[in-house]
Order: sequence, then structure tokens, then C-alpha cells
Amino acid sequence: MKWDIDDVQKWPWHKHPPGLVNPDTGNSVQFNTGSWRSRRPALDLDKCSQCLVCYIYCPETSIQVQDRKVTGIDYDHCKGCGICAEECPRQAIALEDEAVQAG
Ligand code: SF4
Ligand code: SF4
Repeated sequence: MKWDIDDVQKWPWHKHPPGLVNPDTGNSVQFNTGSWRSRRPALDLDKCSQCLVCYIYCPETSIQVQDRKVTGIDYDHCKGCGICAEECPRQAIALEDEAVQAG
């Protein structure tokens, strides 16, 4: 099948062909995305100002928060992307090699 996409920028949403459909949304909690992490974020709560920027940016919702305060990191689902460390204004999160932590 060949599509004529010359005017694709003008297509309304219903003209786009369906792509992948996930019939079981929210199932990511069942998958341990932390299992393939090579680097892990180490949190230093002494430096943390509880601004929650890391919580907002984390694509895996792996920053654990209780009573509006960061309490830790969910390493079962953290994939080690490092966005939290990059965005933290207090340098309270540092990425470390997984092997260093595990050893
Ligand atoms: S971004 Fe940094 S300072 Fe802000 S809550 Fe997260 S660890 Fe703490
Ligand atoms: S390294 Fe990535 S996935 Fe892990 S807590 Fe930070 S932002 Fe989330």
C-alpha cells in the first residue's frame, strides 16, 4: 500500500491510519524497566530542597514522594535515563554506574 502524504500536515486526526493500540493501558507497573538500567541515580536528601522538579520530569514516575516530599527512587522502574540528575537545580541527584552500586 502506498499513501499519498503530500498534504499530510493538513490531515485531520481521523485521516491518519491507526498505529499501535495498547488495549491494557497502565500496565507498565507490571514490567521491571529498571532491569536493563546501566546507570542509576543516587539521591542525596541533604542537598535536596524538595522542589519536586525531578518528580515532574521523570518519564517513569520513579521519583517516590510522600506528603509532598521526595523520599527515594523506585529502582524497579527507574531506567537510568538521568533526566532527574540533569534537571535537579541542587545537584542532589548523581548518576552512578550500576556496577558500583551493586558491588
Ligand atoms: S529536583 Fe533535586 S532538589 Fe528538587 S526535589 Fe528533586 S532531588 Fe530535590
Ligand atoms: S534516572 Fe530517569 S527514570 Fe530514573 S528516576 Fe531519574 S528521571 Fe526517572
